[in-house]
Amino acid sequence: MSATSGPNRTAIIGGGISGLAAAWELAKAGQPAVLIEKDPALGGVIRTNVVHDCVIEAGPDSFLAAKPAALELIREMGLESEVIGSNDHLRVTYILKVGRLIPMPDGLMMMIPTKLLPMALSPLLGWGTKIKMGLEYFASSPPNAPERSVAQLVREHYGQEAVDYLAEPLLSGVYGGDPETLSANAVLGQFIELEKKYGSLTKGTLVMRAQRKGGPAGSLFKTLKGGLGQLIEALTQKLEGKVDRVTGSVVSLARTAAGWQITLADGASLDVAKVILAAPAGPASQIVASLDPALAAQLAAIPYNSSMTIALGYDRQTLGHPLNGFGFLIPKVERRKLVACTWVGTKFNHRVPADKAVLRCFLGGAHIDEPDEVLIAAIRAELKDLMGVTAAPAFHTVQRWRNAMAQYTLGHQDRVKQIRALAAKHSGFALAGNFLEGIGIPDCIRTGQAAVKQLH
Ligand SMILES: Cc1cc2nc3c(=O)[nH]c(=O)nc-3n(C[C@H](O)[C@H](O)[C@H](O)COP(=O)(O)OP(=O)(O)OC[C@H]3O[C@@H](n4cnc5c(N)ncnc54)[C@H](O)[C@@H]3O)c2cc1C
Repeated sequence: MSATSGPNRTAIIGGGISGLAAAWELAKAGQPAVLIEKDPALGGVIRTNVVHDCVIEAGPDSFLAAKPAALELIREMGLESEVIGSNDHLRVTYILKVGRLIPMPDGLMMMIPTKLLPMALSPLLGWGTKIKMGLEYFASSPPNAPERSVAQLVREHYGQEAVDYLAEPLLSGVYGGDPETLSANAVLGQFIELEKKYGSLTKGTLVMRAQRKGGPAGSLFKTLKGGLGQLIEALTQKLEGKVDRVTGSVVSLARTAAGWQITLADGASLDVAKVILAAPAGPASQIVASLDPALAAQLAAIPYNSSMTIALGYDRQTLGHPLNGFGFLIPKVERRKLVACTWVGTKFNHRVPADKAVLRCFLGGAHIDEPDEVLIAAIRAELKDLMGVTAAPAFHTVQRWRNAMAQYTLGHQDRVKQIRALAAKHSGFALAGNFLEGIGIPDCIRTGQAAVKQLH
């Protein structure tokens, strides 16, 4: 580790995509900078492994194409020709109900039904829910609705079954969280706006969709042929020689006459002019604890969930399943260890050779301390039950993500406002990361870019 001083530099603490986006902005502007990351590899939760010729994402597998920041960064890395979309013509997502995998009915936008017939014919929801869904079209706007949880919002519009079998499984893949505690205003802000304007979420979604017709076509989710790790590799290479690197864990931050002093766990220190703190809220809170206890307290109040991705690889002919869809989601009320499973080769091309199959399984943090063999045995038993897969996997990968998913719980937007206000009191200091205004990759990139704009 080299921990030299460069008093004119801007330090970026945290080398996930938020910190990397900030580092790249500084590099483009020719500003001296140093990136401090505790792990030897950059990228944070973005990590791609190639195992038996299969491209396996240990963390995120794609990003929302509608938010431009990720595609723009990819273009700047010269990776545009590597961009692929999900195979949306094959998109079927199954949801487990009473032991059966049932296709999500056509016309659902998140948990909002926009087509009557597929919903009416689907065995996923009972008639009470279907009637409530139909009548929701005539809902009127609630006057001055208070902040509500995701579950409250969806329950009010579509009933409890829609919470259990749509909202919960759909959001658990993104936040790994509980719809009763997640804030609808922070997580589903667009729906809150539609509700204000139209009353009915279904009506609002239909109007919005009609207005967007003629807009850019293409897959909802995009990724890179070789996995999102390609973006991290490209950023790492492009930053070389332009942004200094320090491998070490930052423990504290203190003001100096000229700027900031950063102290690392091994006792080394760096003097810099400005700081972009792009570590998750928990570590960020510890880093600012002595500098600003009020800011530290607000950061510490953002909870994080843990999760795991476990990929099982098979010889295709042993699997005995058509893999006719993107995979399945398991509602919490169905009580399994598995939260979701992606059929990787169907969802994306270039990931799995024709003679192989990869089932990428998601588990919640409750099982994170169980040994690999126990987890894999449990998953195999569930896959046998749900998909009839009895073959032994030819290979597997296990990735544990501790406290990686920021939870936008009730009060999140106010918390972030306070965090922003407290951080703004420190000149030459800015925050970035997935705990601010969006957990997805494009939002994280935007926070990194915005932090640089704020300081320079
Ligand atoms: C399993 C999983 C699947 C996901 N799927 C998707 C998806 O498909 N699409 C999507 O858009 N988003 C997805 N997300 C969310 C998205 O990937 C993350 O929100 C985003 O990548 C976070 O980036 P970040 O830089 O803010 O944080 P991180 O990636 O957590 O990076 C923070 C970095 O800070 C470093 N750090 C921490 N403490 C210190 C310290 N004291 N000193 C120095 N360095 C420190 C860490 O080592 C880490 O590298 C997923 C997340 C997970 C966990």
